[in-house]
Amino acid sequence: LAGKTFKPEPSVIDVGGVKIGGKELVIMAGPCAVESRDQIISAAQAVKKAGAQFLRGGAFKPRTSPYSFQGLEEEGLKLLKEAKEATGLLIITEVTCEKAVEIADNYVDMFQVGARNVQNFQLLREIGRSKKPVLFKRGPSTTIDEWLNAAEYIMSEGNYNVVLCERGIRTFETATRNTLDISAVPVVKSMSHLPVIVDPSHAAGKTQYILPLSKAAIAAGADGLIIEVHPNPKCALSDAAQQLTPDDFYDLCKDISKIAEIL
Ligand code: PEP
Ligand code: MN
Repeated sequence: LAGKTFKPEPSVIDVGGVKIGGKELVIMAGPCAVESRDQIISAAQAVKKAGAQFLRGGAFKPRTSPYSFQGLEEEGLKLLKEAKEATGLLIITEVTCEKAVEIADNYVDMFQVGARNVQNFQLLREIGRSKKPVLFKRGPSTTIDEWLNAAEYIMSEGNYNVVLCERGIRTFETATRNTLDISAVPVVKSMSHLPVIVDPSHAAGKTQYILPLSKAAIAAGADGLIIEVHPNPKCALSDAAQQLTPDDFYDLCKDISKIAEIL
């Protein structure tokens, strides 16, 4: 179902009137995690001002250590909904288990499946039954073929609203958090009709590389970007080293719109 033999022409996924995979570049941005009302409202206003269409923010956080901040769960979802009412931004959030899918369904416009759950087939089937659009991240160690097969688990349950997201893979390189597999963009586009967006934040792990990787992603044919932005990155409860300030994000959006224009 994800393959070009099933559907040769590119898919455009409509989320609340925003078309992913169409001519317009789609930008999703916001903090790694929802931390407080002030934090998420201020992040929402900043990403709206820069021109993003989606606010991201994790309420269920799959952290490497169980002792790290795990997210505000349903309270975080309520704050995301408030941010939507305040700004009109669409909301995307990660769901980590079937229970989270059930709860988040009432609050958000799009689900995100995180890299760690790329082959959590029970979760993928549940999302397939929900029909809500989903941003489906590649796992840190999944091949493109495994990733597209995993997407079949969602689509074979009837949910065709799948957007793929390359977020860096694990390699021997340690200078960046992950290695952005820029070739995944054209490779996936040659194999699948699904839109592809790039997450330079989790790929780079460091703010200084986010602008160049964003430019590369757009030039390679990505349909959009998902970028972490925090009103005060130094105090972030997760992923502090990679979250852009509102001002830096504003400048990044200006720069990449110039690239999008010439393509
Ligand atoms: C995230 O988007 O905050 C996240 C945890 O990303 P990934 O699943 O790509 O690590
Ligand atoms: Mn993060």
